[in-house]
Amino acid sequence: MITFYAVGYILEMNATTFEGALYGCKIIYCGSPFVGVFFYLFALDFANRPRPKRWIIVCLLIIQGIFTFAVLSYPLTNLYYADLQFTNETGIGSLVKEPGLFYYPNFILVFIFTIIASVILVRSFISERRYDGIVIFATAVITPIVMQVLAMFSFSLLGWNPVPMSLVLSIGLLTIYLVRYRKREWQTMGRDLVVQNMQDAFILLDTKNRLIDHNLAAEQLYPTLATVKKATAVSEIKDFPAEALVTQGYYSYEHVTQNRTLQLRMASTTVFSGDIKVGTSIVISDETESQRLMQELTRLARRDDLTGLNNRVTFFSDAQVSFDISQRQKGASGCALMLDIDFFKAVNDTYGHAVGDEVLRYIGSVIANRFRATDISGRYGGEEFCVWMPVTDMLGAKRVAEEIRTTVESHSFNIDDNIFSVTVSIGIACSEEADPDNFDDLMNKADVALYEAKNTGRNRVAVYHNPLKSSAQQNAKNSQRLDIPQRRSTDN
Ligand code: GH3
Ligand code: MG
Ligand code: MG
Repeated sequence: MITFYAVGYILEMNATTFEGALYGCKIIYCGSPFVGVFFYLFALDFANRPRPKRWIIVCLLIIQGIFTFAVLSYPLTNLYYADLQFTNETGIGSLVKEPGLFYYPNFILVFIFTIIASVILVRSFISERRYDGIVIFATAVITPIVMQVLAMFSFSLLGWNPVPMSLVLSIGLLTIYLVRYRKREWQTMGRDLVVQNMQDAFILLDTKNRLIDHNLAAEQLYPTLATVKKATAVSEIKDFPAEALVTQGYYSYEHVTQNRTLQLRMASTTVFSGDIKVGTSIVISDETESQRLMQELTRLARRDDLTGLNNRVTFFSDAQVSFDISQRQKGASGCALMLDIDFFKAVNDTYGHAVGDEVLRYIGSVIANRFRATDISGRYGGEEFCVWMPVTDMLGAKRVAEEIRTTVESHSFNIDDNIFSVTVSIGIACSEEADPDNFDDLMNKADVALYEAKNTGRNRVAVYHNPLKSSAQQNAKNSQRLDIPQRRSTDN
């Protein structure tokens, strides 16, 4: 706008005819009426203060536009200039102007806006308490005002209108001032942009948990933020977990938005200005994907990827816990089971490892389907599988083991045109009979039983018998003959 003002003025000064000068004058008024409004908006931005509502700005520009129209339509209308005469006495082209109806209102409006803008600029400068560049700043602000006052009293510098030139000077000086002394403000502007565009939601609250500021990501999570007024209590934001603000630090929660359930993590931090608490900053990050990856990692770390059963580490840690609980319950027995595929090396050697893997998968599925939810099964390693069955007596365990053995025995594999079947051997050890020191001991005893099953022909189930208890039973049988009451063994 100042460029229109200045260029138009140069044209007017160089004009040798009335038409030429009028042309320059019209160019001036394409810009000059708007200068005050824009200077005012510039000052607001400079001082980091809110701009007026958009419709107010549009109204102001329309009003100033009317003055432009009034000049452009001369001589069809005489609203701005009642009359214009051309002179070139000093060698400088100039129009002698007889003010019309709109002339002074425009002049006054531009002047008022310039004054308001200057006050805003000066106040922001003082409130910053940083006086570097004060000469440049003061010159930039004061010169246009002084020049306008002078122009009002028809002062001219050697026949030059000083206002457009002083405005060019003023904008130049303010630019220098901004670049040299307000770098920090540009930094702040950078921070604003970062916060506005960052992926995490950002919400700033005052000490009474009322909204001060938020960014775009926050609006996407909580669309009501876009419509509520500033200083609304944060508890009025739909779905916002206000309870999270009771304590500082991290708060994880689920949030449903656009039919998606998100896992969110909120970090709230008290904001201090010096020693005084001024509010709370909230940053909410979306952890849906990282939590999904975490679950996937945990699953992978816990599972045997061939059979989908627990791996050995998971089996032992989970079964250990369950075993310890059952040991504490008086009279509760549990059984451990070890299963090994018979002559599995031959399957690999005959049909290849891929076929061997299929067999392992099948056995895994038989085990996964057969046991109760409270039973814990796993792949011990190679072609060996293990199960811990809490609250199960030896008869029950034997029945399940037999079922598995016959299911596998009767299954016919048909892989890549290879038709064959396999058998398994199973060893069982029950805590009541085996009297184990700990869970590892019980598993070892199930392994002992497995060896017995292998040694006595394979494709069978063997139960661990405690040598000490066996002799005790022998004694019991002897005692029975002497009519001493004894508990009957539940063993086979
Ligand atoms: P036994 O009846 O005495 O148990 O004989 P076996 O051949 O089953 O026993 P052995 O321990 O000699 O062989 C186990 C075989 O299991 C050896 C190995 O090649 C195979 N094996 C172990 N892990 C895997 C696996 O993940 N995939 C495949 N395909 N084979 C495996
Ligand atoms: Mg083996
Ligand atoms: Mg084997």
